[in-house]
Amino acid sequence: MEITRQKFLVAATTALLIPQVEIAEAKSTVISRLPASKTRRFAWTIDDGASSSAVKTYLDIAEKGDNHLTLFVTSCYASWRDHSKQIARLLEAGKIQLGNHTVSHKDLTTVSQGEIKKQLYGCHLFMLEEFGYDARPYFRPPYGSTNPTVRAIAAELGYTVPTMWYGTFGDTGNTPEGRVVQLANKWIANGRIVIDHCNRTKSRHALDDIQGIIKARGLHSVTLTEAFGKNFK
Ligand SMILES: [Zn+2]
Repeated sequence: MEITRQKFLVAATTALLIPQVEIAEAKSTVISRLPASKTRRFAWTIDDGASSSAVKTYLDIAEKGDNHLTLFVTSCYASWRDHSKQIARLLEAGKIQLGNHTVSHKDLTTVSQGEIKKQLYGCHLFMLEEFGYDARPYFRPPYGSTNPTVRAIAAELGYTVPTMWYGTFGDTGNTPEGRVVQLANKWIANGRIVIDHCNRTKSRHALDDIQGIIKARGLHSVTLTEAFGKNFK
């Protein structure tokens, strides 16, 4: 029997809400590094999605190269719908992973408990509906801003891994590209989770430089699931 989109969503919603008992016990594990490995690797994570062309650029990097990317989706941006087919294909191929970065990027420590839930659950449902993809347990609180209430509510929804970072490319403001590359050069290293953004198109030159740094260090980027395994531990 064919599963309709509606039935799928109902099933997905129910699956999310059933484990109430486990929920009370759910604990968060905050991460900013990858587990030790014999392979030289790091996690290139990319947030937000304000620019559709920037999102496309990163999808193409994952599609054509050896670096697997984790994209933290802010679901109010149209970029994620614009590239829905390519995203679904890359998810299927294991070249990208998606994480929950809320619906509209509010600082979760400044809003009501109901709003925290709405922000996380709305983004969760978007990814289920658009890509048939369950992003749990990884979420990134906007601005890295979190507290015990945020972590507890996220954990109740199955988002038990607040994903922070060891270093940033510093591209949230109007950072000149040369500086972004300098910061990439500073922070990309074995075992680290680094944060980048797809809110403005970076030039091909800057992205080539960043990929050159990765290659020169004998590294490749892996998704969080590749590093932590299917059942996070
Ligand atoms: Zn963000």
